[in-house]
Amino acid sequence: MAGQATKAAEAPCEGADCKLFELARSAEVKPAGVKVISDPPPLDPAADDWPEDDTPLYEARRKVYPQRVHGLYRRIKWAVLCVTLGIYYVTPFLRWDRGPNAPDQAVLLDLPNRRFYFFFIEIWPQEVYYLTGLLIIAAMALFLMNALAGRIWCGYLCPQTVWTDLFQTIERWCEGDRREHLLRDRGGWTMERAARLASKHFLWLMVAWWTGGAWVLYFADAPTLVRDLATLNAPFVAYLWIGILTLTTYTLAGFMREQVCLYMCPWPRIQAALTDEYALNVTYRHDRGEPRGSVKKSTALRAQGLPSGDCIECLQCVHVCPTGVDIRDGPNLGCIQCGLCIDACDAVMAKIGRPARLIAYDTDLSIMDRQEGKPTIHRFVRMRTALYVAIIAVVGGLMTFTLATRDAQSVSVIHDRNPIFVRLSDGALRNGYTVRIANKRPERREFTLSLSGLAGSLVDVVQTRDDGRFVVEVGPDQTREIRVLVTDYVDFPPASTPITFHLYDTATGERASASDYFRAPAGG
Ligand code: SF4
Ligand code: SF4
Repeated sequence: MAGQATKAAEAPCEGADCKLFELARSAEVKPAGVKVISDPPPLDPAADDWPEDDTPLYEARRKVYPQRVHGLYRRIKWAVLCVTLGIYYVTPFLRWDRGPNAPDQAVLLDLPNRRFYFFFIEIWPQEVYYLTGLLIIAAMALFLMNALAGRIWCGYLCPQTVWTDLFQTIERWCEGDRREHLLRDRGGWTMERAARLASKHFLWLMVAWWTGGAWVLYFADAPTLVRDLATLNAPFVAYLWIGILTLTTYTLAGFMREQVCLYMCPWPRIQAALTDEYALNVTYRHDRGEPRGSVKKSTALRAQGLPSGDCIECLQCVHVCPTGVDIRDGPNLGCIQCGLCIDACDAVMAKIGRPARLIAYDTDLSIMDRQEGKPTIHRFVRMRTALYVAIIAVVGGLMTFTLATRDAQSVSVIHDRNPIFVRLSDGALRNGYTVRIANKRPERREFTLSLSGLAGSLVDVVQTRDDGRFVVEVGPDQTREIRVLVTDYVDFPPASTPITFHLYDTATGERASASDYFRAPAGG
């Protein structure tokens, strides 16, 4: 048995897992600045010579001065920034005609009336399951992005990334690009530097204020609220939220920046647990880049037929990185996968006449395949990507179907808790119910109510009797609560009889129903 186990342990493994295992085993881990001491002598904590450990518990922040860069991924980031910020700032002002009795704001969270309007969709509080569906779709979309190309969300779409990008651009306008900014910071205070700093913070505060201001416009009629805010007639809570969001945007995008990604956001940790070996990530192709060295040195080495990589140690990829990461060190929690280092390195490669994409969206598996002379294959269709797409399709399909076929009216019933039933003087039994009728149309409607499941019973809708008919009028886009008394004249009814209330629109015949029970004393 032991021999078999040894044999199994030594047997060459196969497939992607084996490649990664080999890669990990061969990797040389040398944390910078850490001296590894083998077999340290035992220390006695009670002894006087116990060494003082002055190592700080937290690493001090190194300020990042990201350099301006041009290229494909920078252009993609500009486009995403313009589209996402445009949507955010403009959406509250879009109008959507829903008729005379409904708000005409296309996207509105009407908290006082407990409604959410999204263009032609109106969500009522009892339809909150649509929110659950949306959250499931959003989570699956995030997982899918991650399975296809790593942290696309972090690099391009996350609000923290978008606003930080905008704030860094303003910083460059006011304080210059990386080198200029560094020199100014080290050069002490001058009037010019103070003026530049003041203008930067003023612009940051303006953007932060617009951000907070736009947010509150989603909760009320935007043009009216803008006018009320300008004339100081808006409710205090609106000013309060604008203040809070101005402060958080200014702090998170202006000062905390990459620290939010590194220390506050849970997604990098979750993402790292969800990824697999086939997900494309911004990768330094070390098979091509190493051994690195200056152009002069590598030219000399190549002239002698000695190995020399394409990386010329120019550090441009590090200088443009908004989180200060050196992608050449391998996968890093701080890398938001924005692709800016690809643009920077491509520009360097173009200048020195070497092929582009020394840094690229790639996988370690592809690198190993290339090293072994095999063709690289990117597997986008995998079990997990198919599963994510299937869940999105099923949940999205269900939501679309239920939205398209949902009723414009609904009825819900709550049985009285105390007393559960009442014995009347003539021997009949009576149960009381609270019935809520919802009219989801923007016009006033009339409904009648009937009961099934209890033959010979009498239904009495308290205070709504009209010419002998039970007619309940419900205002546009409103609900109405009524008291309903059901009286049963059967001598010995069962303790619990299932009954159904039926609601009919008197004009259109549209209907809805709700089930409950008629209660009687056990044993009659
Ligand atoms: S930009 Fe390219 S060449 Fe320059 S250090 Fe980075 S990887 Fe090497
Ligand atoms: S290492 Fe490259 S991809 Fe990662 S955050 Fe920095 S610039 Fe973006």
